[in-house]
Formats: sequence, structure tokens, C-alpha cells
Amino acid sequence: MFGLMMNTPLLISAIAEHAARYHGGREIVSVTADNPRHRYTYGDCIGRAKKLANALNGLGAKRGDRVATLAWNDYRHLEAYYGISGAGHVCHTINPRLFPEQLVFIINHAEDRWIFTDVMFVPLLEAIADKIPNVEGFVVMTDEAHMPETQLSNVMCYESLIADESDEFDWPEFDEQTASALCYTSGTTGDPKGVLYDHRSTLLHAYAAVAPDVMSMSSRDVVLPVVPLFHVNSWGSPYAAFMAGAKLVLPGPKMGDGEVLCELLDSEDVTLSLGVPTVWLALLQYCEKTGKRLDKLQRTLIGGAAVPRSMIQEFRDKHDVEVRQGWGMTETSPLGVASTLKAGLENRSPDEKLDFAAKAGRGIFGCELRIVDEEGSALPWDGEAYGPLQVRGPWVCSDYFKLDGSAGTHTDDGWFDTGDVATIDPEGYMAITDRTKDVIKSGGEWISSIELENTIMAHPAVAEAAVIGIAHPKWTERPLLVVVKAEGQDVTGDELLAFYEGRVAKWWIPTDVEFVDELPHTATGKVKKIELRRQFKDYQLSG
Ligand code: ADP
Repeated sequence: MFGLMMNTPLLISAIAEHAARYHGGREIVSVTADNPRHRYTYGDCIGRAKKLANALNGLGAKRGDRVATLAWNDYRHLEAYYGISGAGHVCHTINPRLFPEQLVFIINHAEDRWIFTDVMFVPLLEAIADKIPNVEGFVVMTDEAHMPETQLSNVMCYESLIADESDEFDWPEFDEQTASALCYTSGTTGDPKGVLYDHRSTLLHAYAAVAPDVMSMSSRDVVLPVVPLFHVNSWGSPYAAFMAGAKLVLPGPKMGDGEVLCELLDSEDVTLSLGVPTVWLALLQYCEKTGKRLDKLQRTLIGGAAVPRSMIQEFRDKHDVEVRQGWGMTETSPLGVASTLKAGLENRSPDEKLDFAAKAGRGIFGCELRIVDEEGSALPWDGEAYGPLQVRGPWVCSDYFKLDGSAGTHTDDGWFDTGDVATIDPEGYMAITDRTKDVIKSGGEWISSIELENTIMAHPAVAEAAVIGIAHPKWTERPLLVVVKAEGQDVTGDELLAFYEGRVAKWWIPTDVEFVDELPHTATGKVKKIELRRQFKDYQLSG
């Protein structure tokens, strides 16, 4: 027997309408290439998103067509999110930091009909234009006054495109599992793979995001997403913020600039910010140097890579800011776990609480977790057993775009194999020990590169660190610690190795230390281990 409740579809346009009706006056502040502080409201945003939806109809866009964006976090990109998906097309966000060959691959693979681009990415498109012949037009997201000279053909100016369109648009109603957005993984191994979100998954994920133990986002919040709109929908923040009615502050091209972020956090009264650890490293370094304190910020959601314990401590002790760690991936929309303290753990010592905060987090309702052994049998949640992490839920991908199951990432019983290795403790807190391909195998056992990195990050002379496995005749592999020294600090390799004593198992302590000026980063700001391994491929260990 079915229940007797309405089957109203969960559509992105419904969030837009809700935001415009209840929070129409709420502000959206953007830094753009042509305006240091653009301000308007949710009402303005949705009005312009409707103009865009009308303009896309005028161009001949059909349901399901892929319309790409190549842009920073600002109000025009936000309008594209709602205008494109709301009208029933697929918003394909492209990461401008990908290599040109990868851009060509994903634009052709996605069969994008139009690309909406920021002015600064026009040269990037010019360089690959002859390799993406199926793109029918390029829309430069600026006004006539700032239109660049370009060799691209069929170029339109965003402001002119929407100028004469009506801000009335009847959002179409369709099945909630209709595709809404497309994001490709960074393709660190092989070609990038397309994750195709739908309206239902996006809305369910947004409900989860605003929940108290996840982002805890309300209409009283001011949210600064430093995670790009071009990667995993900025962790769903544009949908969650509109659902909650939170003020949005979008940093545009200034995402990695500690000074700009600090100023925005302060002057716009930001209460919640989201970003990867490298971004916060830049901010904390800037604060340390200038003696600035983050007085208004209440909490940060940090994920995308393991959050060093020392970073959580610094936010807590110097700025009174709560760090919520999260784990997720493109394939999981991305929220999978978040690390708030559970009832019953309040009386633990500050150190033990920090131990929980330093784990990736505990399951969010809607994303089931399990760790398995080599045969695929579930491992115990004892905080000790580790194995491949598998997940399932309504916002986890069931396949990749146009790959028809060939990626081999899903199990026969319907779970997605994340490619991460993890432990889960009896309280349900999951900790990532490594990506499967980054695991260091020493003497038949695994060493967690992440734990070695997090441990050494607490040393004051270390700005950034990465640990990779180097081939060893006896042990298969041994860890090499690669370190960027903190500004004005000096330290020797032996001193760093001594720092590990008593903090990790003796046989985990890296065999060698190398100092570098900087570490290679991926398009999403994570340490690019594959590149680092390439750099050190001929490295001779000392022992
Ligand atoms: P890519 O790095 O290829 O762009 P994603 O952005 O989807 O892909 O990154 C997902 C990966 O990032 C996860 O599989 C995991 O390895 C890593 N990651 C995310 N959050 C955490 C975390 N809190 N701790 C450790 N690793 C994390």
C-alpha cells in the first residue's frame, strides 16, 4: 500500500522561488574582476536567473542540453546555476585549473553547447577553440564596457544577452531525477569522469547541509564559500544558502588571498566559511603575520583533504572559531561525513575532543558508510581496522556520465567504492588513512601518509608537508617526508624526525626528510602526490 502524500517534485527552481519569496531582500556580495564589491539581493539574483532562462530558450536550448560555466565564485555564476538548471538544462561547471587537454576532453565529452566564461578565461578558450568545434557559442560574463578583444567566434556579452529579456519565467516542472549539473573529477588517474547530479539529489543534499550537525546554516548566517562554484557545486553551498536564506559573500578570483579573505570575513560579518585546508593555511599565516583576529567568524567547514590537528587548534585557541571537518568527494555531492561532537562526549578532555575533530567526521543521515576487507566483507567499527571505504545514498553517484558501468567503481550490491582507505571508531567517527593509491606499504603493513603529515604539521617550523612512499629493497616502501619550511623558520631533518618520537609508531617514522620551496598542488588545492612521486622517482633513501 502506498502512502497518500503529494509527489511534488524536488526541483532546484523550488529553492529559487522559496529564496525569492522569503528572503528576497537578503544580500549577495561579490568580488568580481570588474567590481571590488558588488551587492544585490536574492530577489535580484532570481530575477536575473529568469532572464537568463529566457535567453537560453531564445538561443534554442533544449531540456538536458549541457551549458558550461568557466568562472569564479560571483553573482553571475550563481545566476547561471539557477537559470540553467532551473530551466531544465544541465549546468556543467568546468574547473579552469585543469590542463588544456583535460578541458578539451571534458568539453567534448559533455557535448557542451555553450560556454559561459569569465573574462580572464577567454585566452584559455582561445587556445583550445579549434579542438572544441561543437561548442556553438561563448558568453563572456561581463558587461559591454569590459568585453575583451577575442578571436573566439560567436561571442556574446552576458549583460547584453539578458538585458532585454523578461524577468518573468515559469519554471518547468519535470521528474525530480532529471539531470541538473555535471562536474568532472580531476582525473588524477586516467581521463576525468563526469558526475551527473539530479534535482532530487541536489535538494536532499541541501537539506542535509543546513542541518545543525553539518553546516548548521540558518537565515541569520553569513556564508563565505571559498570552495569554488566550479568544483562539486561549492559543496552545495549555493543551494543550502538559498534554502536557509543566509547572506552569501562570494570572493571571486581572490579565493586564495589571505588578506582579501580576512577583510571580507570581517567587513561582511561572515559567520560560516567553507574551504580546503590550503586556503585556511594562507589565511592563518596572514593573521599570524599581521596580528589580526577573526572576531566574527563562528565556524568553518574544512574538507577536501585531511585537516591538520594543529589547524583546528589554532582556529580554536587564537580565534575562538569552531572547525568542523568534513569528508566527501565529487561523487558524493560531496557531503559524506562531518565532525561535530556527539552527545556523551562533552566531558572528554580538550585533547580527546581534538582527537574527534581531527577525524573526518561521523556519518550524515543520507550517506551510509562501510569499510571492507580484501574479500569485500564488512570490517568492525573499532577505530583500528582499516580498509577501503564504501558509501551509498541518494546523493552518491550510481555511475559516471556515458561510462555505462565501465569504471568498475561500484560493487555488485550497490555501494560506491571511494578509493579511500579508512577506519571507523565505535562512536561512528570515520578517519581517512589514505587514498588507496597513496598508501605506503612497508614490511607487509600499511603506513598512513595522512597521519604522518598531520603529525608534523604541528611542528612550528613546518608550513606544509607531504609524505610519499619510496621503493625500498627490504621493506617494499619507506616513507619520505617532504617539507616546506614556515617563513623565517629553520629546522633540520633530524629535528623533524625526532618530533615523531612518541607520537607515531616507531616503524612509521619516515626514513628521510627533504626540504622544498613549494609542493605541487592539484586544481582543487590539494597536494598532488602523483607529481611529487614523479619528482622523487629516482630518490635514494639513506637507510
Ligand atoms: P579530486 O581531489 O580528484 O578533485 P574530490 O574533490 O572529489 O576529488 O576529492 C575527494 C577526495 O578528497 C576524497 O576521496 C579523499 O581522498 C579526499 N578528502 C576529502 N575530504 C577529506 C578529509 N576530511 N580527510 C582526508 N581526505 C579527504
